[in-house]
Amino acid sequence: MNDKPSATDIDAAIAVGAKVKLATLDTRRDDLLPDRKKAEKQLAEDAAVINTLQDRLFAERTRALLVVLQGIDTSGKDGTVRAVFNETGPLGVVVTPFGRPTEEELAHDYLWRVHRAVPRKGFIGIFNRSHYEDVLVAKVRNLAPADAIERRYGEIVAFEQHLVNNGVTVLKFMLHISRDEQKKRLQDRLDDPAKRWKWNASDLEDRKLWDDYQAAYEKMLRKTSSAHAPWRVVPADRKWRRNAIIASVVRATLEAMNPQYPPVSWKPEEFVIE
Ligand code: ADP
Repeated sequence: MNDKPSATDIDAAIAVGAKVKLATLDTRRDDLLPDRKKAEKQLAEDAAVINTLQDRLFAERTRALLVVLQGIDTSGKDGTVRAVFNETGPLGVVVTPFGRPTEEELAHDYLWRVHRAVPRKGFIGIFNRSHYEDVLVAKVRNLAPADAIERRYGEIVAFEQHLVNNGVTVLKFMLHISRDEQKKRLQDRLDDPAKRWKWNASDLEDRKLWDDYQAAYEKMLRKTSSAHAPWRVVPADRKWRRNAIIASVVRATLEAMNPQYPPVSWKPEEFVIE
């Protein structure tokens, strides 16, 4: 890969299909965007363009963009939101975190809370975790009957097709980090007083189930990477590279959507402001 890959090259490098083997995917990809300075410059440019396009999407108000961020603890979901949408004002972006379902949410089907959070026309919606938890933690921790979980893959593919048919572009990123990198990041949360608030002892329980989670992620990628909503696996051991990659794809996606300011039926010169 040359040191200034195009957005298409970057996207092709992280696309996955039905035969993906997670264990063979590099969590660093030093060959992709090797130069940190250049990647940071590109990120800043992309973030600014994302802001302009978001403004047009908001004005046009006919379509929406949904960005799904999935990844194990410490994979950088929050950091990605901060970096990639750094330039984008709060007006047209809505971030929804999905934690353990509430009693009310559990009283409905698993997609109920998700559908409610899908961005309205004109908005960019970001899911910090998502409906995919229902085939990840739910599978690893047996939170639903096995046959129900098995059915969910097809249901999710159909749900996302429904969204796409109704004007929602769906972008799905899995943030892929190594076991060693997770260890470092968890240790950081113990060592750095400014990060201690993120410490959650139950993350250690999930870490013990590393292999089960990797297997659940791989199955999720294989079963739900569809033509209308493909998965992208982002090498996420280097935060700056992760941010640059995701910004590049988000920018390219918005450019392809090409939102337009709506035409007006009047002429500006008809009005005089005293
Ligand atoms: P984060 O770890 O993303 O910063 P939280 O500390 O709120 O945020 O953790 C969210 C937790 O909620 C995770 O452990 C995740 O596995 C869990 N969770 C999310 N969705 C579901 C779900 N559908 N069923 C069960 N647990 C879920």
